Amino acid sequence: MAATVLDGNKIASEIRAEVAAEVKALASSGMRPGLAVVLVGNNPASEIYVRGKVKSSEEVGIYSEKHTPAENVSTAELLALIDDLNRRDEIDGILVQLPLPPQVDSKKILMAVDPAKDVDGFHPMNVGNLSTQRPGLVACTPGGVMEMLRRSNIPIAGKDAVVVGRSDIVGKPMAMLLINANATVTVCHSKTGDLPGVCRRADILVAAIGRPGMITREFVKPGATVIDVGMNKVTDQAEFERFFRGNEKREQAFAKNGSTLVGDVHPEVSEVAGALTPVPGGVGPLTIAMLMANTVRAAKLRRAAAVPVG
Ligand code: NAP
Repeated sequence: MAATVLDGNKIASEIRAEVAAEVKALASSGMRPGLAVVLVGNNPASEIYVRGKVKSSEEVGIYSEKHTPAENVSTAELLALIDDLNRRDEIDGILVQLPLPPQVDSKKILMAVDPAKDVDGFHPMNVGNLSTQRPGLVACTPGGVMEMLRRSNIPIAGKDAVVVGRSDIVGKPMAMLLINANATVTVCHSKTGDLPGVCRRADILVAAIGRPGMITREFVKPGATVIDVGMNKVTDQAEFERFFRGNEKREQAFAKNGSTLVGDVHPEVSEVAGALTPVPGGVGPLTIAMLMANTVRAAKLRRAAAVPVG
């Protein structure tokens, strides 16, 4: 039986609607949440991501502003911008779009963002808050995966979860969130022995690797929930056919665009898994929705001790 499709677009629109209602309530008491996005240079992918974030902010009623320093900006100049945003009371969230150009000390920049405004959840203070279960801001992609699991009524407590990938922005916070939700968690990476065997133990398998279609059916316990965080652009015809031969819709789109988006999970996994996130339309839409939710959360935590923080 084919796996249940976990529809990220649907869940993201539920979250956005909830956020919009909260923004309306906060704005009516004079506390409209504000997000500042910093986009350095002209990286086309970053420009697309930032456009999506600004558009989404406008749709839910969050005030947003975009700062676009030139590609040759120095670390000191960027630090001055972050300092200014840290000081401005009407700015609740600061998002520095990565990657930054090589002359900029990215770690220094991310450390300079006020943890109370760190809507990406990358600051070590927020990483520490997460690992010690204190209130704080959680990285958007793994936060979105948790919303996906909860809103799809997938049990987590007492289950075996395997996370493939240990990056600071996805794999590690994902593992921590699952531990906090009482799963028994194993984290895998490029040096893991018998990766398929370890993955096959998972009731919940999260793939955050960056390798198109690497998770094939032999990695998956029948009936498991499989969350595909990967977003890989495939342009090679032979590789495309390995995943989508016979999928008419994809074939037409590939012929037209010359590329398609593939996750880290091979589409054949839908024949084994109990539930599976599609790519596109799975985890991706949740990431931006969680950025919106984080901006509202930051506004509540920082500006209004009187406002209950959910
Ligand atoms: P990353 O920083 O490159 O980390 C990849 C992780 O995968 C590393 O821990 C690496 O292990 C592990 N890995 C690589 N090859 C492996 C292999 N053959 N076997 C086992 N583990 C392997 O990537 P990331 O930033 O976490 O992103 C992962 C994927 O998620 C990418 O496709 C990215 O585009 C996507 N992504 C999607 C969203 C979204 O909104 N949907 C957001 C963020 C990222 P080592 O640590 O040993 O090198």
